[in-house]
Amino acid sequence: MRINLLDFDLVQLTKYFSSIEEKPFRAKQVLKWMHQMGVNDFAQMTDLAKSLRAKLTQHAQITVPELLLEKISQDGTHKWLLNVGTGNGIETVFIPETDRGTLCISSQVGCALECTFCSTGRQGFNRNLTTAEIIGQLWWANKALGVTPKNERVISNVVMMGMGEPLANYENVLSALNIMLDDNGYGLSRRRVTVSTSGMVPQMDRLKEDCPVALAVSLHASNDTIRDNIIPLNKKYPLKELMAACQRYLVKAPRDFVTFEYVMLHQVNDEVTHARQLVELVKEVPCKFNLIPFNPFPSSGYERSNSERIRAFRDILQNAGLVVTVRKTRGDDIDAACGQLAGQVSDKTKRQEKWIQIAQKGDSCA
Ligand code: SAH
Ligand code: SF4
Repeated sequence: MRINLLDFDLVQLTKYFSSIEEKPFRAKQVLKWMHQMGVNDFAQMTDLAKSLRAKLTQHAQITVPELLLEKISQDGTHKWLLNVGTGNGIETVFIPETDRGTLCISSQVGCALECTFCSTGRQGFNRNLTTAEIIGQLWWANKALGVTPKNERVISNVVMMGMGEPLANYENVLSALNIMLDDNGYGLSRRRVTVSTSGMVPQMDRLKEDCPVALAVSLHASNDTIRDNIIPLNKKYPLKELMAACQRYLVKAPRDFVTFEYVMLHQVNDEVTHARQLVELVKEVPCKFNLIPFNPFPSSGYERSNSERIRAFRDILQNAGLVVTVRKTRGDDIDAACGQLAGQVSDKTKRQEKWIQIAQKGDSCA
């Protein structure tokens, strides 16, 4: 099989060129063609010698996932559905705001971590995305959206908050992050690229050494009892260890804070006492809070906290001096809301069947 050059960051591409006895600077040229110009045909790479173009055509390929569907919402949100083979689809969403344009991308087909409030987690896990499939999402979106009249890229920020746990697909995500940051790639600053994790402590430590981009941590609970129930990974890395890992991360991170995401689940984690516990929990960690109204999905067993409870919760955090935003739900008309990037997962873990059985028995996970 021919090698897919979209799987390589600059270091890997440089190695590839030396393995085929070509000069290292070719890597920069090809990276620019692929990512800055959106070219996926060697024949169009006019600053490469014809003989090199022919050699590459013979031995390599530039293959992006096939685009199945593009939807544009009333509020300007875009959504793309990409085919990643064997009945699997992944979703990518672009959210325009006045001062920025954020692309939300996926890292896995499904997710193995089974958070109970997450529709991706409920769908089971199929496989890790390749680097080409991760960066391919940015490739497509960038091609569709291009640059502003001022010649600035429309996509100014990338968040790894789509399907999957990015740190559970560490190597491929790392190469994709390197391409996002590379001046020959998308040239994004570390502050404008965010990895969101449910709390994989050892990989957080690795990321801070390898590529300390902005970090978001899905906290969602103020104590281990609740967090154990809704994020099974918490049993492995409980809150004390997670908070310590956040502190270690900040020593290296480009931003001087961690963003804590907190999904508001009615009568599960949204009590006044929980807000007070949170203030105590994070007191050693410079942070910002992002409260996310729960996005319901069929037979989730959870309800979204009402706006009164969200406001009361926010006020407690704010009065304690924390910076808090409440996430607006965007793109509702095209199902592009956060945590709803369902795609299509051919579940290898048979989790869907398990949940259907639970739902039929009338059990609730709340
Ligand atoms: N696996 C990573 C990133 C993907 S999920 C993580 O867990 O951080 C992106 C964010 O959406 C996470 O904070 C996740 O907890 C949240 N989320 C998942 N399901 C949701 C739902 N139904 N409603 C609102 N937010 C949800
Ligand atoms: Fe996976 Fe994140 Fe969903 Fe948890 S919230 S199941 S880690 S995608």
